[in-house]
Amino acid sequence: MKNEPIPYKIYLEESEMPKQWYNVRADMKNKPAPLLDPSTGKPITHEALSRVFCEELARQELDDTTAYFDIPQPILDFYKMYRPSPLVRAYCLEEKLQTPAKIYYKFEGNNTSGSHKLNSAIAQAYYAKEQGLKGVTTETGAGQWGTALSMATAYLGLDCRVYMVKCSYEQKPFRREVMRTYGASVTPSPSELTQVGRQILKEHPGTTGSLGCAISEAVEDATTHEGYRYVLGSVLSQVMLHQSVIGLETKAALDKYGIKPDVIIGCAGGGSNLGGLIAPFMGEKLRGEADYQFIAVEPASCPSLTRGKYAYDYCDTGRVCPLAKMYTLGSGFIPSSSHAGGLRYHGMSSTLSQLYDDKLMEARSVEQTAVFEAAVTFARVEGILPAPESSHAIRVAIDEALKCKETGEEKTIVFGLTGTGYFDMFAYERYNNGEMSDYIPTDEELARGLNSLPNIQ
Ligand SMILES: *Cc1c(COP(=O)(O)O)cnc(C)c1O
Repeated sequence: MKNEPIPYKIYLEESEMPKQWYNVRADMKNKPAPLLDPSTGKPITHEALSRVFCEELARQELDDTTAYFDIPQPILDFYKMYRPSPLVRAYCLEEKLQTPAKIYYKFEGNNTSGSHKLNSAIAQAYYAKEQGLKGVTTETGAGQWGTALSMATAYLGLDCRVYMVKCSYEQKPFRREVMRTYGASVTPSPSELTQVGRQILKEHPGTTGSLGCAISEAVEDATTHEGYRYVLGSVLSQVMLHQSVIGLETKAALDKYGIKPDVIIGCAGGGSNLGGLIAPFMGEKLRGEADYQFIAVEPASCPSLTRGKYAYDYCDTGRVCPLAKMYTLGSGFIPSSSHAGGLRYHGMSSTLSQLYDDKLMEARSVEQTAVFEAAVTFARVEGILPAPESSHAIRVAIDEALKCKETGEEKTIVFGLTGTGYFDMFAYERYNNGEMSDYIPTDEELARGLNSLPNIQ
């Protein structure tokens, strides 16, 4: 433990970087409910899952007892190109807020994909390569996952086919071009290339697509082409496992200076960055070694944890993926068109859902104008232009710091700054023009999605 003043950025030496991922499920007494096979309604087998995912990834997905997985050397080598990511003491933000709280953020935006998603993309691409596959298919919403995956597949020499939600495809041509620069083929979804895409287009002509729909297309593409598998950038337990590198680095950096956080905050879309950030801390809490307050932050317009149901649901609109028990708004849920802040998935990681249901973690929902206000405050004092997704965590970190100002508590707050917002300038433009509105779905609107949940106990 060092006695020096805390530097603005805490880095780890190469030798201090994690060499294993941590699987928090191993320490959970109440394990997340098993994935169900949509064709049988029974817990899915490794064999069935391996038709969709790479074999090793299917194994990781189903393993809720092994606590540590060695990170293969080629992945460690790739991580060295952009990791460790810095843990930053937000001295300037503290000063601006005049708070006695100590604020730290783990910044994952320092790579071309602009987010934490590369941590899992390289792992998934690596296992596909090891299995001798030709390529992978996936969906992307805002584009960060598709970009991360195309970087990883380019590095390893794999083919990459991305189904991009049509409204993003049209709104974010530069994201699409980054993916193509890395050699991926990008198709707006829904498309005519798949049966499920054609079906959705017939039922909803003119639709601008959704994540659930793009997932269905990517899965169909992978399962109907020899040598291809599907990969997913969030929600799954395997993704959370890979993202534990965020939390392990954070913990190592804090331990180096003897810092113990009180509150750990992350934005929650499908739950992978938050799950990864909190994993080693949650492990300590589960084993009774330490206590922390964990806060998941989600958009008020897509409130799966705070207003959803804990139930089995389909992970995709086309209902081709395994069913997961999770907090969900229903697989048909699509956030209002005025929603600009990302995090638009209808469900939540089954691991985080179980932890939340067991009251080991809290959740808050925030409105998007408040999110962008926090983003602008942060950008002006800390320099980094945050992704709208990340800004959900900034909002609640600021709220917590302001509470400390009232109470005089010197809490240590850590939050995940998952990425940068350079491709989100349409959303920033709306905010800057005063044209952004908040939309909170009514109970009746949510009931539509919730009533369509499959009837499985
Ligand atoms: C994808 C993404 C998220 C949300 O995904 P999770 O799986 O919930 O972490 C958050 N921030 C950024 C920058 C992202 O790209």
